[in-house]
Amino acid sequence: MIKGTGRPVYEGVAIGRIYVHSKQQTVTDKKCADIEKELARFSEAKETAREELQVLYDKTLKEIGEEQAAIIEVQSLFLDDLDFVEGIEDMIKAGSDAAFSVHEIGDAQASTFAALDDEYMKARATDIRDISDRLVRILTGAAQGFRMDEPGIIVAEDLTPSETVALDKDKILAFVTRQGSSNSHTAILARVMNIPSLVLTDIDIDPSLNGRTMIVDGFAGNYYIDPDDATMKAMLEKKEKAGAYKAGLESYRGKESVTRKGQHVSLFANIGSPDDIKYVLDGDAEGIGLLRSEFLYLGRDSFPTEDELFEAYRKVVEAMNGKKVVIRTLDIGADKKVDYFNLTPEENPALGYRGIRICLTQKDIFRTQLRAIYRASSYGKVAIMFPMIISEKEIEEIKKCCEEVEAELKAEGVPLNPVEHGIMIETPAAAVMSDQLAPLVDFFSVGTNDLTQYTLAIDRQNEKLDAFYDAHHPAIMRLLAMIARNAHKAGIWAGICGELAGDLSLTDEFLKMGYDELSVAPSRILELRKNVIESNI
Ligand code: PEP
Ligand code: MG
Repeated sequence: MIKGTGRPVYEGVAIGRIYVHSKQQTVTDKKCADIEKELARFSEAKETAREELQVLYDKTLKEIGEEQAAIIEVQSLFLDDLDFVEGIEDMIKAGSDAAFSVHEIGDAQASTFAALDDEYMKARATDIRDISDRLVRILTGAAQGFRMDEPGIIVAEDLTPSETVALDKDKILAFVTRQGSSNSHTAILARVMNIPSLVLTDIDIDPSLNGRTMIVDGFAGNYYIDPDDATMKAMLEKKEKAGAYKAGLESYRGKESVTRKGQHVSLFANIGSPDDIKYVLDGDAEGIGLLRSEFLYLGRDSFPTEDELFEAYRKVVEAMNGKKVVIRTLDIGADKKVDYFNLTPEENPALGYRGIRICLTQKDIFRTQLRAIYRASSYGKVAIMFPMIISEKEIEEIKKCCEEVEAELKAEGVPLNPVEHGIMIETPAAAVMSDQLAPLVDFFSVGTNDLTQYTLAIDRQNEKLDAFYDAHHPAIMRLLAMIARNAHKAGIWAGICGELAGDLSLTDEFLKMGYDELSVAPSRILELRKNVIESNI
C-alpha cells in the first residue's frame, strides 16, 4: 500500500480505479537514420488517417448531417494537398523524423491560414491542426484522447479549465493533482460536482498507476494506492458515515432559508455549464447566482455561435423553471486560456486583458453573447452580470451595448422578458466606489476569490502563498460590509458568489451584514440552509 497526502478541497471519501491524465505530449525532433523507411511510415500514417476519417465521415453523416460531414471531408483533402505533403516529405528527406515534420509543417501552414483575412480560409487553420494532430498521434502511437471506460479517480499533474471541460463528468469519482490550489478552477469544479479532491499532493505520477485501486479521503487529505484490508475497512466506514450525514441534511430540502428571527436569504448555486443543472436540482438551489459562461468557450477550436450559446442558456433557464438565473458574461483571460481568442502572453495575466476588458474591446464577441442571453430571457427569469468592473465608464459602455442589442432583437420581433443587470464586485476599485456604482445597476454580486487576491495582493493560483491567503482578513470583511451597505442605500440587492459565500463559519457575519443572496457550490446548499435556519440572527 502507498499512502500519501495533499490539501483537501472538498470532503468525502472516494474509492475507485486510477486514470492518469497526462498532458498532450510535446513533439521533439528525434531525427531519422533511414529516410526511405520514414517516408514509408508517413505514407502508411496517411492511409490510416484516411481510413479513420472515412469512418468518422460516415458516422457524422448518419448522426449529425451533411454540413458537419463536409468538414471531415475537407480534412481528408489535406492528405493529398501537395504543399502539405511535399513540405513534410522534404523535411523527412532532410533528416527529421516523420512526426516532427508533420507537426512543424502543420503548425506553419495553420499559422499562415489563421493570418488570412478571409473567414473561410481562417477556419481552415483548425482543419490543418486537426489533421496534423491525427497524423502525429498515429505516428507516435499515442492513445486517442483521454477516455474513461468506467468511473474512476483522475490523477494529474494539474488540469486546465479547458481540460476539465473535455472530461466525462459522470465518470469522475475524485481528482488528485500534484499542483493546483484551494481556489483554482479544478477545486471549484470538484465542489460543484460534489466529489472529494486533493490538490498539492506528493503523488509520483506514472502510467503504471493506471487501473490500480485508490482511496481518496477528502476529510483528512490522504490518499491510499493498493489499500490493505484494514485501510479499506476503515475508509468504507468513513464513507458510510459521510453518507449518513448527507442523508440527515435531506430534511432541509424544500425548506425556506430563513433564520429564527425571520431574516431571509436566498441560497443560489454556482455552475459552469448546462450539464451542471443536475447538481443544481439535486442540491435544491433556489436559483443560479453565477453561471460562469466562459466555460462554453473553453475546450473548443472556434467561437461558439449565437445559436449554440442561446441553446445552452435556454436549457439552463428552462430547467430552472422560473427561478432566477444570473448569467455572467464571459470572463476569459488569466488562467482561462482559449487559443482562438489569440491572447498574447502577458507578464501579469490576472491584472491583464481579461473579462469585461476583452468584451469592451472586441464588441462583436460581446454582442453575440448578449444577443444569446436576451433571447433566452423569454424562457424564464434571467439576470446578466458583468465581471471585473472598475469604473462607472465601463458600466455606461456596457449599458449602451445592452440597449442596442435589446432594440435590435425587439425590431426582429424576438420575444424578451425583463432582465436585471448587475455587476460583480471583485476589484478593490469597485468595492471602494460601490456607493457610486450602486445607483447604476440592479444588483451587486461579490466575487470574493478575486476581491481577496487583488486586495491582499496574493495570486489565488500560487500555492506558495496559501499560508498568507487569509480569506477572513479584516480588510475583506470591512469591504464586504461596506458593499452590502452601499447596495442597500441605493435600494438594490447584494449577494456573494465567491467561494467565501459557502464558508459556514461566516454565515452569521453575512446575515448581519444583510446580504440578500449567497451563491455557492450546489452541493453546499442544504448544509448552508441548515446553518441559516439554526441561526439566531
Ligand atoms: C470570484 O472572483 O470570486 C468569482 C466568483 O469569479 P471567478 O472565481 O470565476 O473568477
Ligand atoms: Mg472572479
